[in-house]
Amino acid sequence: MARYIFITGGVVSSLGKGLMAASLAALLQARGYKVRIRKFDPYLNVDPGTMSPYQHGEVYVTDDGAETDLDLGHYERFTGVSARQSDNVTSGRIYQNIITKERRGDYLGATVQVVPHVTDAIKEFALADVDDLDFVLCEIGGTVGDIESLPFMEAIRQLRNELEPLQTLSVHVTLVPYIAAAGELKTKPTQHSVRELASLGIKPDVLLCRSEHPIPEGERQKIANFCNVRKEAVIPALDAPSIYSVPLQYHQEGLDSEVLRGFGITDAPAPDLSRWHDVTDRYFNPEGEVTIGVVGKYVGLQDAYKSLNEALVHGGLANRVKVNIRWIDAEIFEGEESDIAARLEPMHGILVPGGFGERGSEGKIASVRFARERGVPFLGICLGMQMACIEAARLAGHDKASSTEFGPTEEPVVGIITEWMTEEGLQTREAGGDLGGTMRLGAYPAKLAGNSHVSSIYGGATEISERHRHRYEVNGAYRDSLEGTGLVFSGMSPDGLLPEIVERPEHPWFVGVQYHPELKSKPFDPHPLFSGFIAAALRQSRLV
Ligand code: GLN
Repeated sequence: MARYIFITGGVVSSLGKGLMAASLAALLQARGYKVRIRKFDPYLNVDPGTMSPYQHGEVYVTDDGAETDLDLGHYERFTGVSARQSDNVTSGRIYQNIITKERRGDYLGATVQVVPHVTDAIKEFALADVDDLDFVLCEIGGTVGDIESLPFMEAIRQLRNELEPLQTLSVHVTLVPYIAAAGELKTKPTQHSVRELASLGIKPDVLLCRSEHPIPEGERQKIANFCNVRKEAVIPALDAPSIYSVPLQYHQEGLDSEVLRGFGITDAPAPDLSRWHDVTDRYFNPEGEVTIGVVGKYVGLQDAYKSLNEALVHGGLANRVKVNIRWIDAEIFEGEESDIAARLEPMHGILVPGGFGERGSEGKIASVRFARERGVPFLGICLGMQMACIEAARLAGHDKASSTEFGPTEEPVVGIITEWMTEEGLQTREAGGDLGGTMRLGAYPAKLAGNSHVSSIYGGATEISERHRHRYEVNGAYRDSLEGTGLVFSGMSPDGLLPEIVERPEHPWFVGVQYHPELKSKPFDPHPLFSGFIAAALRQSRLV
C-alpha cells in the first residue's frame, strides 16, 4: 500500500519546498523504501514548456518527454528515480482535460464544477501509477491561502478522509523569521499559516520551520502548542551550507523518524546515508579548483540553468575539485575580438548551453571559435552544439552559415525538421505550428562511432539514450564539409539521419551534443560528459 505525504508551504514562497521534498524522499529511500515525488502546480499554463526561463527557471524534461517544473530535477538528482509525465500536473492541464471532456459530452449534461470535477481529477492524478511504491510525496506549489491552490488543498483534505487513517501525512513548510531589532525569532507567521491550513480542513502532522537562526527549545514548544503538533514534530530547517547537506541535516533534526512515526512505523531499518556522506565529503574537501565560463543568454537568473549548474558541480565531485562557474552574457562578445580573449583566457573550460532565439548567437559562435583555436576544453549543449557546427561551417568557407531558427538563410547548417521517427511511429509537425509541446522531446537513442572520444567518455558504449528538447537539427547535407575542418560526427540517431554528437579529435577536449546530458547527472552518479569535461578543465588549469 502506497502511503502519501502531502507537502504544503506557508508564510512566503521560495522556501525551497522542492529541495525538502527531495531530501525527505532521499532519507526514506536510504531506509530501503521505494519512493516517488510528484509536483502539483496551481498555475494555468498547461505545462511550463512555453514559459520564459526568467519567469519560471529551467524547464526540466523527463525520459517520457514531459516538459516539467524544475523541482522534478531536484527529485531525480536526490533519489535517482526517473521522473515521468505522471509526476507533474498543472491546473491548466487539469482544466484542459476537463473542458475537452465537457465538449465531447462526456458529462452527459451535468454541471461541471470545481468540486467534484476538478478535485476528482487532482485525486485521480495523485493516486495513479503507484502500485509498487512505499511512499508518494506530493508537493503542492505556491503558498497556503493562494486562490489558485484551493482546489488542490480541497483534494488533499478529501484524500486524507478517504484513504486509511495511517496512510497519509501532512508536512507543512513555514518560515520562522528573525527580527534583528528585537533579537528574536518570531513564531506568529507559522501560527497564522497553520491556522489557514486548518481552516481548509488540513491539520499538519509535521512542521518544517525554515530559519536563519537555531530555534530554541522554548520556541519549538510554543510552535507545538499553538499549532497543535508534537514538539518533536516541529523540525528546525536551518539554512544549509550546500544543498547536498540538506538530507543529512534533516536526518539529524529527526525529520524522517518523525514522518515514519506519523505513519505508525516503528520498525523501519536505520538509514544508509553513506552516499550522502561521500557526496558532502567530496563537496567540502576539494583538492583543487577549476573555472568554467558558461556563455549563454539567461545568465541573470541561475535557476534558468539549474540542472547545468548542478551537473557542473557533479563533474567537480567526480574529480574532487571545486567548480567556479562564471556566467557570461554571450552578447558582450558581439563587439571587439580583444574583449573576448580578456574574458575567456582565465577559463579552464568553456560551455555553451542550450537556448532559444538569435540573441547572443554570434557571441556564442565567437566563444566556440576561441575554444577551438586556443585548445580550451569545450562542451556545447543543444544550441551550443548547433553553434559549434555553424562555426565549423564558416571555417569551411560557408560564410553565411546560420540556423533557420534565426530567420531565412542561404546556408541552413541548422534547420527545422518536420518529420522524425519515435517508437510510436512517424511524428510530424508544421514549420509554423504551435510552440507548446511540439519539439523533439524526451529520451532518444544515439549510436556512437566505435573509436570515438565520446564512446570512451561513455565507458566504451556504442549506444546511449539521452534527453532532448529542441526543434532544429544540424543539417546532414553539410556533414562532409564540416568533417573537412576536423569536426567529426561521432554520434548519430540510429537511422543515421540526425547528428547527435560532434567532436574534434585533434583538440584536447571538444564535444558538442544535441541532447541535454545535464538532466541525467546526479551528485552520487555524475554524468560522464561532465566528469570528462571537468577532468579536461583540470588538465587545462595546470597548463595556464
Ligand atoms: N533553439 C534550438 C532548437 O530548438 C536549441 C534548443 C535547446 O538548446 N534546447 O533546436
